[in-house]
Amino acid sequence: MLQDQEVHAAEMERTFIAIKPDGVQRGLISEIVSRFERKGYKLVAIKLVVPSKQFAEKHYHDLKERPFFSGLCDFLSSGPVLAMVWEGEGVIKYGRKLIGATDPSKSEPGTIRGDLAVVVGRNIIHGSDGPETAKDEIALWFQPKELVSYTSNEEKWIYG
Ligand code: ADP
Repeated sequence: MLQDQEVHAAEMERTFIAIKPDGVQRGLISEIVSRFERKGYKLVAIKLVVPSKQFAEKHYHDLKERPFFSGLCDFLSSGPVLAMVWEGEGVIKYGRKLIGATDPSKSEPGTIRGDLAVVVGRNIIHGSDGPETAKDEIALWFQPKELVSYTSNEEKWIYG
């Protein structure tokens, strides 16, 4: 029979979160990482990469018909991106809440984009928008061996 913590580990949801080149250049890595960490989510993968434009196009393939697609992919490939996988109950949906609305001028204060960004083309962070996207984006950015499963001592205080 599975122990409580193993049950948690087996059921835990994962999402792909990236700090875009503007967030990295502005020195916002620790600010953003700490918001996910303090919430109680668990970091299971992290790396700094400069994606090629072709890679950025794959990441944003859903948006290829949009007028800003090329500029967006140029921007994502213009510098280091901090790619991460975060794990926790409801992390996909609630991670998007922590991030805030796409356009920072409409993001609520208290959200990452609401507090730290001004315009839609420089909104500093990406987060998967659903379970399928999360699975695809994690597979695009990380190899399975880069995802680290571990038990944190805090879990029993976060989940009871
Ligand atoms: P989100 O990142 O909130 O999931 P979308 O998937 O709709 O939003 O868009 C992806 C990214 O494209 C946004 O985060 C933003 O950087 C950029 N973007 C969206 N709309 C515009 C726009 N009107 N002009 C420029 N860039 C945009």
